[in-house]
Amino acid sequence: MSIDTLCEQLTDYLDIDQIREVRRAYFYSEQAHTGQSRRSGEPYIIHPLAVAGVLANMRMDHQSLMAAMLHDVIEDTGVTRDGLAAQFGDPVADLVDGVSKLTHIHFESAAEQQAENFQKMAMAMAKDIRVIMVKLADRLHNMRTIGALKPEKRRRIGRETLDIYAPIANRLGMYELRSEMQELSYRALHPMRLGRLEQAVAKVAGNRKRVVEEIEAAISGRLEQLGLKGRVIGREKQANSIYRKMKNQHKSFAEIMDVYGFRVVTDTVDDCYRVLGAMHGLYKPRISRFKDYIAIPKANGYQSLHTTLVGMHGIPIEIQIRTEEMEQMAAVGIAAHWLYKDQQDGATPDRATRWVRDLMEMQQTAGDSLEFIESAKVDLFPDEVYVFTPKGSILELPKGATAVDFAYAVHTDVGNRCVACRIDRTLAPLSRPLNSGETVEILTAPNARPNSDWLSFVTTGKARAAIRHTLKQREQSESIKLGERILTRALLPYDIELDQLTTEQTQDLIEHHKVDTFEQVLAQIGLGDIPALSVVGRLTGEDETGSSDSSKPLAIAGSEGVMVTYGRCCMPVPGDAIVGLISRGKGIVVHQERCRTVAEHLNNPERTMAVAWDQDVQGEFEASLKIEVENQAGVIAQIAAAVADAGASIEGISREERDAQISVLQMIAGVKDRIHLARVMRRVRAQKPVLRISRGQ
Ligand code: MN
Repeated sequence: MSIDTLCEQLTDYLDIDQIREVRRAYFYSEQAHTGQSRRSGEPYIIHPLAVAGVLANMRMDHQSLMAAMLHDVIEDTGVTRDGLAAQFGDPVADLVDGVSKLTHIHFESAAEQQAENFQKMAMAMAKDIRVIMVKLADRLHNMRTIGALKPEKRRRIGRETLDIYAPIANRLGMYELRSEMQELSYRALHPMRLGRLEQAVAKVAGNRKRVVEEIEAAISGRLEQLGLKGRVIGREKQANSIYRKMKNQHKSFAEIMDVYGFRVVTDTVDDCYRVLGAMHGLYKPRISRFKDYIAIPKANGYQSLHTTLVGMHGIPIEIQIRTEEMEQMAAVGIAAHWLYKDQQDGATPDRATRWVRDLMEMQQTAGDSLEFIESAKVDLFPDEVYVFTPKGSILELPKGATAVDFAYAVHTDVGNRCVACRIDRTLAPLSRPLNSGETVEILTAPNARPNSDWLSFVTTGKARAAIRHTLKQREQSESIKLGERILTRALLPYDIELDQLTTEQTQDLIEHHKVDTFEQVLAQIGLGDIPALSVVGRLTGEDETGSSDSSKPLAIAGSEGVMVTYGRCCMPVPGDAIVGLISRGKGIVVHQERCRTVAEHLNNPERTMAVAWDQDVQGEFEASLKIEVENQAGVIAQIAAAVADAGASIEGISREERDAQISVLQMIAGVKDRIHLARVMRRVRAQKPVLRISRGQ
């Protein structure tokens, strides 16, 4: 086929301007692909032209044909989507871009579930249904020319076509395209077996032909006799469908070949039922095999009457009865919407989408094929995303899901240990919503724990529940531990140790605080809900208000977890003089002694607690620094480098211009202790633009 013969064919249904556009896309593509050739040695342009030809046979619109001409241009030449948009407009550029994105996805796992998810992914990624149709036409032509490839590659592509693309064609009711794809795929996968089957078919062909002609004459005769119009077509069997039936339905070759298939195509729906009556009068029907897909269409919109009759000598005869329009629909499915478009209705893709929506409603009222409704929702109104694991499996997640949701979907342990992620091999924030087709890799650390911030962006119930559960568990165990330490310390002046408490004493506390276990009493002390001094008072019989906090300070080791936190107001680091404030439900907040927040509570022994840094204090502490600098280019980078040189991290930085000359930087630095902090400050002060540096806001 040449571009001229194609354009000749297009005059049947496109206007001159549209054909000119298709031709322009052809020449653009030919130039872009110059010097490239197909595996067969032919110039590359043969392929896009043929793909457009497939769509022209389905009478698809001119934009689809243009996209077909250009479908490999982004992928194989230097042209960009925007470049195409400038030349051919956004709709065509978007179609080509959509097809290219699908091409990027490689199907690696053959498991059935994966295949289905892949189909859904392909559909979800294509915002415009025409993207799928161009892709199907592309695949069909690749299958037609698969002979040029090595056997192994032929098998892989055949398998992929069978698992992914033929089912998509089926979903869209494109039977002709689907059965050609199936035939070509089986031929690629099982060339020997199909060859033998064809020989066997050829052997019985002579006998079959006589029987077919006999039945055809009988059917036509009866229709004529009753004054009914109808085209009678004898249906020949494709080798691949014989093969599948033998394999899946465990039928012998003879059993399959003994069935004769016919189709009667007539004018109106009424005629269909009249023809059905006529057929049931001609031969005895096997009523259990009767199917009325006109009243209740198949999930993909297919309509027809199916009946099986018992012919002479007991030969089974299968008859399909339908109108011309249904016949078209059965051949090209969703593409029929471009074929039968109203003259005034330009927005055909919308019509196709509407058609699918109508179909869903129809299915709903028919109470049938729930599964289709589910899948159609996913396909054309995507509220799900499909992403790859690094091994190529596909996970289905709700729209808006993040890497954390992904991690929990893989396994709760992966979620709990997750620290970072790579999306398409690039580090990305854990909170970024995922897109279909992306590959997600989760980085874990053995001691990592879920972060309560995650709750603000996860979308799956599984992730939410697991994060809450883990946080709660952790809080529970940490508050028990802290409560234990606080109470032990408070009892020190009385020479009472916790494990010396009698059952009566603990029971009394349990009842007094209306909880179930002594651990819960400890947890509430740790959380700051029960003042330790009141427990001491109850245990010693002394007036609680009289006792003062005279015992040695509670040691802060930096590893207490969520029950010990540090005041955002003063950000103490090891070496600073500190005081603990007990905050209800939150445990202990450590402040600098000089902090203003502390001053307000100093006289309340139930709220304050003496604390001191443990000798072996561990970890990184945040300190806030205020830095005045001269305004000049690169000043932030210079200071950041100085901080890094001093071995500290920067957790946050903001800049406020005081005037044209001077800015104030607020920086949060992560340091080990006061000495480390002093070193950081010295380094920063040594930078030329720095005028002044101090701790605090
Ligand atoms: Mn292609």
